[in-house]
Amino acid sequence: MSNDLLLVTNNEKYSAKLKAAFLSRRPEINVLLADDSGAERATMALCWHPGKDLLTRFPNLQCLHSVAAGVDHFGAELLTSGLPICRVVDDHQKQGMLEYVLWGALTVQRNFDKISANQKESKWQGFRQRPASDVRISVLGLGELGQFVARGLAQFGYSVSGWSRSPKNLDGIHCYQGPEGLTEQLKETELLVNLLPLSPATKGILNKDLFNKMPEGGYLINVGRGGHLIPGDLIDAIDSGHLRGALLDVFDQEPLPAKDPLWTTKGVTITPHLASDASLPTIIEQVADNVLSFVSKGELTNQIDLINGY
Ligand code: NDP
Repeated sequence: MSNDLLLVTNNEKYSAKLKAAFLSRRPEINVLLADDSGAERATMALCWHPGKDLLTRFPNLQCLHSVAAGVDHFGAELLTSGLPICRVVDDHQKQGMLEYVLWGALTVQRNFDKISANQKESKWQGFRQRPASDVRISVLGLGELGQFVARGLAQFGYSVSGWSRSPKNLDGIHCYQGPEGLTEQLKETELLVNLLPLSPATKGILNKDLFNKMPEGGYLINVGRGGHLIPGDLIDAIDSGHLRGALLDVFDQEPLPAKDPLWTTKGVTITPHLASDASLPTIIEQVADNVLSFVSKGELTNQIDLINGY
């Protein structure tokens, strides 16, 4: 095996940027684009939405690497192909995610959503200031990002709980697991933050039933994936006055089409999938290290669990 790395993304400019960054930071990695001669001999591929025919086009691949924290973009065929799959874990990305979620938490706590709406009508209306500890925040997903965000929110003074598949014990954070745990947790939730990976088990989890389990006036931050949310259920929950609003960063179809009703639903803030990126230097370093370690020892870091799909 050699230090070849096949690069397959759905965006030519992004691929070119990644290739240039490898050349300047880690020239020992031989980055090949899909049309380059010799691309078929690569054993590892770095991908973003590679398409389900990747292994038919490149049958020598023995390992897949995501450019991001999430791996759902590989799709069911590649996730169940049996090949090891790695993803990126980045401290800067964790900090960026905390900043984004704090924006939403402050919006809820200090009523910045209502204040912005009032300004459009030149309306002067004061709001009672609440301490952060009054705001009950639930973080769905206590992985690399969820744990960091939950701890950061707790340090800021919010009352934080978290939800995961397996039991967790985190200082200052009430941890719940499994479906019963989620129902229990939602009863006390004013702000729900979704940081779950998208998998068959979590697809569509942000739906009518879940919203109905939250107290009236609840708010949603979805930074997981668009596939977690049933948009019509959210719009109904907001229009009926049950939920106060939502901050949404991820969508089933991106860019979110101009005609999508989410754009104009009162109380919804849309951001274009920018909550937090993995930094380019971190991507390059982690992937290059994995290429070398796979080639020399057959070892990989930041591998996902193929059975759970994340
Ligand atoms: P991890 O894989 O580190 O953690 C996932 C967490 O979700 C774990 O705590 C896991 O539980 C929990 N989980 C998974 N499935 C279930 C389930 N069925 N029920 C309950 N809990 C479950 O992921 P990361 O923290 O690195 O990233 C999370 C997601 O954030 C990514 O997959 C991606 O979709 C999204 N993301 C969004 C970004 C943006 O800019 N909007 C940027 C980066 C990531 P357990 O601990 O028990 O295994």
